[in-house]
This record gives sequence, structure tokens and C-alpha cells, in this order.
Amino acid sequence: MSLTASSLRDLHRIHQQYADLNDRLAAGPLRVTAAEAAVQQLQTTFDEVKENYTQARVQTDDQQLQLQEREQRITDTRGKLNTCATNKEFQTLKDLIETDVEENDLLADKILEMLEDLDEHESNVNASQEDLNKASHELEKIRTVVEAAQTGLESDLQRIQTELEKAEASLPGDLRTDYRRIAAAMGEDALASVDDDVCGGCYQTLTPQTINELLMSKPVFCKSCGRLLYMAGDSDSPTGE
Ligand SMILES: [Zn+2]
Repeated sequence: MSLTASSLRDLHRIHQQYADLNDRLAAGPLRVTAAEAAVQQLQTTFDEVKENYTQARVQTDDQQLQLQEREQRITDTRGKLNTCATNKEFQTLKDLIETDVEENDLLADKILEMLEDLDEHESNVNASQEDLNKASHELEKIRTVVEAAQTGLESDLQRIQTELEKAEASLPGDLRTDYRRIAAAMGEDALASVDDDVCGGCYQTLTPQTINELLMSKPVFCKSCGRLLYMAGDSDSPTGE
């Protein structure tokens, strides 16, 4: 088994693809969860707004009923005016009618205001319903998109996993053990390219000795961050095979 810069470069690339696919697989359900939370929030708002409307409706109906009942009492009292035996009785009924008429005038004004409020409550309900519908449709759309993407991502991940295992198997045996230990802990950060004598993982400048070992295709770990190093660029070191 040989250790070439290009084989390590491939291994790192596969590692990064694997991590990227894993991130994308996790991102889908998170999008769905966020959209679900948005729908739930709007549902709560809608329930509140609807309840406010119902309360206002009940109160308005109640006041309208009072108005009608007093209206009826005025009519009834007026009917009794002709049957009064005394002047005093007549005057009492007249006073009663006058009071009821005054109170109903006030109540009618109040009801008018309540009806205006009710209109406002109703348009709040409609606006809230519209927001909720939009968010629900959006949630369904996201669910569909995510569901469709997950299958593709899962099969991509499987393919990359196989590639990763193949690339790992091609590492020299003694290096493979060390590499596996770091990869288990660091994932795609188990490897780093070296560019201009600098570790691509932690940006520390490497010693000339480290660079020499790399050029001789020896397995080298960064003394500062622990990553397995390989030379950046397209050409392999000449002593690779
Ligand atoms: Zn480093």
C-alpha cells in the first residue's frame, strides 16, 4: 500500500462530501420543524383572534336583545296608556316610556360602536386565517421538497460511505489505525492540506523537517492540531509509489 498526496487528497474530498451530505440530510427535517413551529404560532394567534371575535359577537347580540326587549316594553306601556284610571298612573307610565326611550337611544349608539368593533374583529379573523393558510401551504410545500430530496441524499450518502471505506482501506495498515482514531473524533477535520508550508487546518507554519517528511510521502500529523497532512496541489510527490 502506498501513501500518496493524491490518495490523501481524495480521502479528504470524500470526507468533506460525506460531512456535507450529512449536514444536508439533517437540514431538511430542521426546515420542516421550523415551518411547523410557524404554523403552530399562527394557529395560536388565529384561535385568540377568533375567540375575541366570538366574545364581541356575544356581547353585541346581548345588547341588541336588550334593545329589542326595551322596545317591546315601550310598545306595551304605550298600549296601557289608554287604560289608565288616574292621571297619576298615566304620568307614571309616560315617565317610564320616556326613560326607556332615552336609555334605548343611548344603547343604540353603543350598539353602533360595538358593530364597528365587530367588523374590525372580523377582518382580524380573516387576515389571521389567511396568514395561517399561507403558512400551512408553505409547510406542505417544504415537506414535499424535503421528502423528495431526502431519498436522493440518503442514496448519495450510501455511495459516498462506500467510497470512503474504499479510500480508507487503501491507507497503509499502520497509518490506518491512527487515522481511524482521529477520523472518529474529528470527521472531515481529520485531514488538512499543506499550502505554502502552512497547515490548512490550524494555519500554523510547519517546520522544514515536517515538509521534508511530507515530500518523502511519510505519514505526517500536524504537531499543533493533530490533523493528517498532505501536500496541496495536483502533483504527487515523486517517491510515492
Ligand atoms: Zn494543524
